[in-house]
Amino acid sequence: MKPCDVEKRLSKITKCTISSDEYVRNFYSVDASSYILKPSVVILPRNKIDVMKIIKFAKRYHIPVTPRGAGTGLVGSALGRGIILDMRNFDKIKLGASHVEIGSGVFKGHLDKILKKQGRIIGPDPSIGPFCTIGGMIGTNASGIHSLKYGSVIDNIIQVRMIDSSGKIIKFPGRYDSIIKKIQARNSTFPKVSKNSCGYRIDKVFSEKDLYKLIAGSEGTLGIIISAKLVTYPSPKNILLYVIHYKTLSDATRDVPKILELEPSAVELVDSNITKHIKINMPSTGCLLFVELDDNKNRKQIYKITSGKIIKTESNAAKIKKLWSFRNSALAYSLRSITKNETMPTLIEDVVVPVKRLPLLLKILDMICKKYSLKVIVYGHAGNGNLHMRPILKQKDLGLIKTIATEFFAAVISIGGSITGEHGDGLARSEFVKLQYDAKTYSVFKDVKKQFDPENILNPGKIISSQSTVTRNLKI
Ligand SMILES: Cc1cc2nc3c(=O)[nH]c(=O)nc-3n(C[C@H](O)[C@H](O)[C@H](O)COP(=O)(O)OP(=O)(O)OC[C@H]3O[C@@H](n4cnc5c(N)ncnc54)[C@H](O)[C@@H]3O)c2cc1C
Repeated sequence: MKPCDVEKRLSKITKCTISSDEYVRNFYSVDASSYILKPSVVILPRNKIDVMKIIKFAKRYHIPVTPRGAGTGLVGSALGRGIILDMRNFDKIKLGASHVEIGSGVFKGHLDKILKKQGRIIGPDPSIGPFCTIGGMIGTNASGIHSLKYGSVIDNIIQVRMIDSSGKIIKFPGRYDSIIKKIQARNSTFPKVSKNSCGYRIDKVFSEKDLYKLIAGSEGTLGIIISAKLVTYPSPKNILLYVIHYKTLSDATRDVPKILELEPSAVELVDSNITKHIKINMPSTGCLLFVELDDNKNRKQIYKITSGKIIKTESNAAKIKKLWSFRNSALAYSLRSITKNETMPTLIEDVVVPVKRLPLLLKILDMICKKYSLKVIVYGHAGNGNLHMRPILKQKDLGLIKTIATEFFAAVISIGGSITGEHGDGLARSEFVKLQYDAKTYSVFKDVKKQFDPENILNPGKIISSQSTVTRNLKI
């Protein structure tokens, strides 16, 4: 069906904003990833009734539906050829004493401001800061700097309300028992890492009560999230931030397991490509670890255990915020290292390994970079074993992306890691989900998808993928 016909027909069944205009479709054809895919129409549903009607329509004409938050995702998971559902109108917030019930279209920055008045926070805090939505955070199982203390989204949801592919409202926890037996028959090929956004997280589902955890990281493939209930925490006080200088990334990552014994709330790493843009006095070139402690115990012990040089100890809230902004801008700083004929695809950029294996991960990266003559930028959540590793390719070498990814991911999996710790599968990595898990686990993933979306209309090709999409529709 032509985009204008989809718009016309949908306009007869719902009064919400629908557009098949070229400029609107172009706007929604990109997100923060390296991909471009033009949708047929873009819709801003006003309420759950609109969503139900749209899903039923899409099912009838077999048009794919992709929910979208703010489009800050880095793997193309919010891009699709059919209907894009922009969920911004789902903006209700209801505060509880230790939780918040929240519409999927609420921007994290807006929620943060409201929670601040209550003296509370939510745990997962992606570096994109205020600009992502709750639906997108759940969709990717997002995490952030403080996930070392608070976990990823999957560790913080209590309830999810969504609309499945038949246009029915589903509330979790609740009865959806037919899938449980299949999930319980899974075996245990899940990597033992602190965060993981690859595939469906059946490893966290043990009974009907925790079935809602499947929705974290499901990338809009199982249902359209309307609202969710998330845990909130008291805002931390007495924060102390240490900035530690190391000559090499290996030196820094070797220290991380010892530092974790101090129970820090964050341990983040930036390499020399980033530090050269940061206004901070360093003894020599090298990398920095940012170590945050948010209670009074263990504070002085860091001097005994670090092999690096502590170059800053900060307890002033405004100055800590400024220092964290250096780390949060790492992606922006990285872009400054790219010259005219080079590109930095968002592809092998968020693997996670057991923390003790970080030095080994760096060796693997080094070998691959030498083999393919790549420059690379490294930063991220060292305390979680989750590093953003961004190889810079010459434009002419773009054809190598799949070979490099396959080799690198296989090596990461062989040392007990996951190919994505927080950004998800999307167009960049769905074809590698089969590499991550064994055949039995992958077949349970297919059962899960079939259960919620038997006709494959919800964000098809993401997570469960029969095609190679890693180098298709690249915009770089
Ligand atoms: C500079 C930068 C830094 C970042 N730092 C981090 C970081 O530290 N940690 C981290 O985890 N991520 C990070 N990200 C990635 C990204 O910002 C997060 O994953 C974010 O949570 C995505 O939110 P969004 O609203 O933009 O979602 P989108 O990109 O719009 O969507 C993401 C996925 O969620 C699905 N989705 C959206 N809404 C719904 C809904 N209502 N129902 C069902 N599915 C839905 C989409 O279909 C898609 O699959 C970063 C991105 C950038 C650009």
